[in-house]
Amino acid sequence: MKIGTAASDHSAVSDPLRMVARIHRMRTLGLGAGAIAVAGVLYENGASWPVWALLFANGFVWPVVAYFIASRSADPHRAELRNLAFDSAAGGFWVAMMQFNVLPSAVIVVMLSADKLGVGGWRLLRRTATLQVVTCAVTAALLGFPFKPESSMFNILLSLPFMFTYPLAISAVAHALSRKVVRQNRQLDQINRTDGLTGLSNRANWEETARHELERALRTQRPAALMMLDIDDFKRINDQYGHPTGDAVLRRVADTMRDNLRSIDTPARFGGDEFGAVLVELEPADAVALIERIRRSLESARFDEAPGLRFTVSIGIAMADASVTDAGAWVRQADAALYRAKQAGRNRVQVQAAAIPG
Ligand code: GH3
Ligand code: MG
Repeated sequence: MKIGTAASDHSAVSDPLRMVARIHRMRTLGLGAGAIAVAGVLYENGASWPVWALLFANGFVWPVVAYFIASRSADPHRAELRNLAFDSAAGGFWVAMMQFNVLPSAVIVVMLSADKLGVGGWRLLRRTATLQVVTCAVTAALLGFPFKPESSMFNILLSLPFMFTYPLAISAVAHALSRKVVRQNRQLDQINRTDGLTGLSNRANWEETARHELERALRTQRPAALMMLDIDDFKRINDQYGHPTGDAVLRRVADTMRDNLRSIDTPARFGGDEFGAVLVELEPADAVALIERIRRSLESARFDEAPGLRFTVSIGIAMADASVTDAGAWVRQADAALYRAKQAGRNRVQVQAAAIPG
């Protein structure tokens, strides 16, 4: 089972470098397109060359520097949060520098707010918005509070690249993330249903199957047999050969069940050294013969890493019949048969009384 891939990138904190790369792409696009919108206003206002240099640095150099800082930081997540705070402060600066020209200012504020909400929710937005307002107020004060909110057609046109590209990019990122969540939920679901050591169904998942099969068997009057298998003296195997060899025995039982049963029989590991399966559509005598074959096959199993190791299993079988009212009762009957197999000396199959006619 590939648990590793399921665990990766399930949150920004668990895989900060992915988050840094994602923000880098969005910042490159947002600041580049945002700088074009700001440039329209600076051009109309006849800005001096240092202001142009600052705009160039912020729009086109800073995204590279920010990526460099965050990806090389010992704590990329924290470094990226600082970069995002700087983005907000710079945004406040440019709003004041544009003398509050309404369209590009709104475009910048919306972009920066959407980023913060996406990365850190309302908390991050509150913190960085405060910084943005303060930077904007200080810059405006230093400039003597110039205020020219009207946006010309030129300003509108130069804001369009941003308005067309950025919201689409945000939606694409959101879509990719939601697909990833769906995929990971599916993987988690698979992990929750599976026993990690053997790859068989686990008990919780199997019980659902047993309920389903019992209902079907009773409804259709078709035969179904529930088998419970327990390894004999498994503690001794662990003690004598070690836990890893014990695990190899558990895997061999799982493999043997898989090899001999059909996939519709849904073999499962109940936990510890106990296994189970529901054999459907087999006449009782055929089911017992098949299960007996599994027992014999395990009896003759050999292990390269422990040539002297021999082990046996005991198996209890309960047929679905009128006396079985629910899956719990079915399991209890198979368990009782298993108990009798142990009592009778182990290494045998016991069928619930009166199950096989004749
Ligand atoms: P019995 O014939 O009565 O079944 O005797 P037993 O020794 O097999 O007794 P029991 O079924 O109670 O023993 C289960 C043992 O299985 C106890 C526990 O140490 C061991 N076990 C449980 N899970 C694992 C596992 O994942 N790997 C290994 N190697 N051992 C396990
Ligand atoms: Mg046992």
